[in-house]
Amino acid sequence: MPIYEYTCNNCNETFSVLKLTTREEETTCPSCGSKEVTKKMSAFSCCTPTGTGSSFTGGT
Ligand SMILES: [Zn+2]
Repeated sequence: MPIYEYTCNNCNETFSVLKLTTREEETTCPSCGSKEVTKKMSAFSCCTPTGTGSSFTGGT
């Protein structure tokens, strides 16, 4: 499951959100309820290969 980290621009709270969608417009700060949040880079979405059929199964 994709987990995104956000930082609130209002109270500077850092929180993680489990999302199945990329609609970050619905993300609100759990601390103050502000929608002024910035998505941070998560380790889960860093090196995840998107798509199928990648050359990940050995060499020649
Ligand atoms: Zn906040």
